[in-house]
This record gives sequence, structure tokens and C-alpha cells, in this order.
Amino acid sequence: MKVQTISAIDALRQTLDQHRAAGRSIGFVPTMGFLHAGHGSLMDAAAASNDITVASIFVNPLQFGANEDLSSYPRDLENDTALAEACDVDLLFVPTVEEMYPFGPVLTSVSVDALAHRWEGSTRPTHFAGMATVVTKLLSIIGPCAAYFGEKDYQQLAIIRRFVADLSLPVDVVGCPIIRADDGLALSSRNTYLEPDQRVAAAVVNRSLRSAASLIEGGETDPEVVMAHIATIIDEEPLAELDYAAAVDPDTLEVPEQIGDHCRLLIAAKVGKPRLIDNLGVTRV
Ligand code: AMP
Repeated sequence: MKVQTISAIDALRQTLDQHRAAGRSIGFVPTMGFLHAGHGSLMDAAAASNDITVASIFVNPLQFGANEDLSSYPRDLENDTALAEACDVDLLFVPTVEEMYPFGPVLTSVSVDALAHRWEGSTRPTHFAGMATVVTKLLSIIGPCAAYFGEKDYQQLAIIRRFVADLSLPVDVVGCPIIRADDGLALSSRNTYLEPDQRVAAAVVNRSLRSAASLIEGGETDPEVVMAHIATIIDEEPLAELDYAAAVDPDTLEVPEQIGDHCRLLIAAKVGKPRLIDNLGVTRV
């Protein structure tokens, strides 16, 4: 069926209320557009488990810092619409900035302090409050639903799970696995910024995590040793520059004294213009 594009909040609410009144379940996939197979996997998962699938495309100014790529963030609504249709999305919500923020800068903000100050938060101090505010707003517009998010943005997913629980939002948060290119690079809209040589070099980001995972599986329990191991591998690639790497508790995102049976490896590194993030779960059996 052809995807229906809606840009007004009221019209979307009315349509979804009618579906819910008819007993249909709603699956929701929020995105910033320039869709790729990673987004496609979320839309497929939503369509497989719900009667109606809604995806949103909104490049949210609140979550970009002053020196970030808001104005140059890649956009391609025609291609996005085709991909959404191929993934059986029923409704595509594409609001303008004015529709979302009619009063200009918001006075109300959602922050999840303890989870947001480290890792991505230390380089991008306003990012997570901007993200949490817009996701809360989108979930309020959509209403009761199952909402699908990628593990690609692992810290973001942890923050969303927490504010949905803290604020008792009527939403079932579903985390979905990372979709990668053949060389391991996690798909991202920002990969389009990579020059050909940088694109080849970018594979080091995931390679360093896989190597660190083997180290842990082989018995290493010291998070500092694991971090240094990742840093050495990134250092060997002249086009890559490490921002942070860490082995953290999968729930609190804090570095444990010793790595236990489960941990999450987190990394951010610059390769040319884009700053790439990735993560990997490690379970010791
Ligand atoms: P974005 O458009 O980058 O804001 O991403 C929208 C959603 O797609 C978020 O929940 C992301 O975590 C998810 N996503 C982005 N890239 C991937 C990927 N490679 N694999 C799985 N999910 C992804």
C-alpha cells in the first residue's frame, strides 16, 4: 500500500486515534531521514509486529550543537518515501520545524542526567536533552505504541528506556540490532560525508571493537587494558582519531572496576569530517 505523508500534528493524531479505536496496534520509528538499511530494519520490525507502522522524519535542531552539521545534514525525502514504502510503512510524519516548535525555542526540556553526562554527552553537551525532548514530544503526538530504536545509538537507547520508564509514557521501547556494511562499519546517514579513502579507513572502528571483544572473551577483565587495546588499533590508522573508547556496564554505562560476564564496548572516533560511533555487546560464557 502507498505510504501516506502527513505534516500536521493534529491530522496525524486524528488518524492514529481512529486506528486505535478500531483496535489496531501502532508501531513507531522516529528518524532524521536520509534513510538506509539500518532504518529499514526498524521499519521492518515495526511492520512485522503491528497493524499500522508510522515513521517520522524530522531533523531536530534541538539536538545539534552550535558547531554541528544541522544545515548540511543530508536530506532526500523522495528516496526516504520510496524506502518507507518498500518497508510497508503506512504513515510518514514529516513535520516542519515551525509545526514542531511553533513558539520558537522550547522552554521545556527532558534531561536524564546520570546517563547523559558521559561518552557522547561529554563531547555533545546539549545533544541528549535535545534528543530526549523531541522523542518525548513525538511519543506524545503518536500516543500508545511500540517504538523502535537502533542499538547503533546505544547511549541514546539507554536514555530513552529510562525517561519512558521515569515518565510512565505508554510506550513499549524495542531495541533493534545494528545493521553494518560488509566490512563492519555501522550504517549511518553521516557515512555519506566520508571520502573514499576515509570510507576504507572507517572499518577500523568496528575492527577495534571486535578485537577488544576477543581479548575479553579470552579472559581480560581490566577495562583500562581493553581501552588501551582499542586506542592502539585506532592509532595505527592515520586517518582515524579516537575520541573515547570504553568497556562499560550495559545498563548504567559506567566503567566497572572489573569487567564481569556482560559488558558493552563503546567507541567514538573521527575519520575525516564525520565522527563515527559504534558499540558491541560482549558476553563471557
Ligand atoms: P537517525 O536517523 O540517525 O536519528 O536514526 C534513527 C533511528 O535509526 C535510531 O533509532 C538509530 O539508532 C537507528 N539506526 C541508525 N543507524 C542504524 C543502524 N546501522 N542499525 C540499526 N539502527 C540504526
